[in-house]
Amino acid sequence: MTAPAVPITQDMLTLPRKPVEGSRTNLIGLTRDGLRDALIAAGTPERQAKMRAGQVWQWIYQKGVRDFEAMTNLAKPYRALLADHFEVSVPEVVRREVSSDGTRKYLLRIAGGHEVEAVYIPEEGRGTLCISSQVGCTLTCSFCHTGTQRLVRNLTPGEIVGQIMVARDDLGEWPAPGRNPKDETRLLSNIVLMGMGEPLYNFEAVRDAMKIAMDPEGISLSRRRITLSTSGVVPEIARTAAEIGCLLAVSFHATTDEVRDRLVPINKRWNIATLLDALRTYPKVSNSERITFEYVMLKDVNDSDEDARRLVKLIEGIPAKINLIPFNEWPGAPYERSSNNRIRAFADIVHKAGYASPIRTPRGEDIMAACGQLKSETERVRKSKRAAV
Ligand code: SAH
Ligand code: SF4
Repeated sequence: MTAPAVPITQDMLTLPRKPVEGSRTNLIGLTRDGLRDALIAAGTPERQAKMRAGQVWQWIYQKGVRDFEAMTNLAKPYRALLADHFEVSVPEVVRREVSSDGTRKYLLRIAGGHEVEAVYIPEEGRGTLCISSQVGCTLTCSFCHTGTQRLVRNLTPGEIVGQIMVARDDLGEWPAPGRNPKDETRLLSNIVLMGMGEPLYNFEAVRDAMKIAMDPEGISLSRRRITLSTSGVVPEIARTAAEIGCLLAVSFHATTDEVRDRLVPINKRWNIATLLDALRTYPKVSNSERITFEYVMLKDVNDSDEDARRLVKLIEGIPAKINLIPFNEWPGAPYERSSNNRIRAFADIVHKAGYASPIRTPRGEDIMAACGQLKSETERVRKSKRAAV
């Protein structure tokens, strides 16, 4: 059922002049306050702006509507005003690949012709969308495919939240009228910021996008269903707790500074001791139960029993889960995956020390969608062309 149309008032009829074609502001990615300000700037009377922003917000984020004409609880002239000034646009899906295990990878084109990837991983009773925060990455972790691509640019909040919207479009998951949007049986129930880029080097955009995703009158994902993964940008960790409050994962990957310097070079700036200090306060400040330590298993590099023992000693006192990630290979990668037996022996030591130590099953490997395999297609093509000449 749709709400009755809003009566047309005089101030709606004195519409400002139409903006130049092509200069419309995208409403996706604006915070609630930003949306209200944009509506005022376009001629919405100030006293109505909060209510209008609430209505438009619900159309966009709760119902998935992109066309102002379909926003039927707004008066027709007001819909026209919105259409003159604004657009509601999400990244363009250039290619969609589906793995034999059901994982879906989206190659998305964003402004400037750049490309990013997002990956949807269906699981029993839930589904996780892995989203990107940057095109490329400034960091150069030696085991990561994205790390071989230079940073092209930060994504905007709209491009970050747009990835969630594209996936919901594809999954057909905009709630039908009358359906409870908080329904826990959602196909897209969790978000991980584990795609391309270092989210804490694009803090404000990531924060605003996650605030939009958490808004109860929209996509409405609980902060406990969002996990931000960082390579260890220490100064932004406390801010993440205070301003986003989501769960935190840390790309730990080594138990000595010597090895971590090589694998995760940001360690030269903030070493293991400094990182652990920052992590100790995170669960309390963000009111989350535990931190996920990601640990990629690289044959003969970081996978010994001694490493496992050092790891549990280092993290002592931090509520933690250790996620063991079998290394995912990519063309030209200088590492090999540890054997299954080695991974299990490592997991066993961590588990016996009292920590959950799940071994992550690689998903979507056949479509290069697994952790650390993402990279812009244009970049890949450019490189392979370069190799061909
Ligand atoms: N930049 C952030 C988030 C993106 S990477 C970060 O580094 O945390 C997401 C996770 O995938 C990180 O833990 C990263 O270390 C891991 N990863 C990168 N390359 C990988 C690979 N080839 N195999 C397995 N995991 C990898
Ligand atoms: Fe960047 Fe994360 Fe890859 Fe390191 S692991 S290069 S921080 S995306």
